[in-house]
Amino acid sequence: MTPAYDDQNIFARILRGEIPCDKVAENDHALAFRDINPAAPVHVLVIPKGAYVSFDDFCARASEAELAGFLRLSGQVAEAEGVALKRGAGFRAITNAGEHGVQEVPHFHLHILGGRGMGPMLTRRD
Ligand code: AMP
Repeated sequence: MTPAYDDQNIFARILRGEIPCDKVAENDHALAFRDINPAAPVHVLVIPKGAYVSFDDFCARASEAELAGFLRLSGQVAEAEGVALKRGAGFRAITNAGEHGVQEVPHFHLHILGGRGMGPMLTRRD
């Protein structure tokens, strides 16, 4: 079951302007900012402005305008960061959900990672 949205999570506080972020881009429905602990030369987080816990929560409850706004901003970020296929060498977009996904911040976010080869998607554990 999706946990209740915690409005004290760090991304909710960024959205309310209570703590700063290194903003990359914004539209009516989404905000993009640099990850504080980057795992690659390009590491941007894109978050919806609405209160959604996870990817599946966002897919189920967001309006068409929120879905479109979020996805458009994500694509624009990849392009602006020079990693989109139009001009760049590509990127990885990932989202972690819940315990098995190892999600730390319970506000849906998409990681856009690039600027170097990302290696295999997962380490296989047999
Ligand atoms: P996840 O494990 O998918 O929930 O990832 C959470 C991400 O948020 C991590 O990559 C953190 O480095 C990043 N993070 C945590 N706090 C902040 C912050 N204040 N500003 C930017 N990124 C943050």
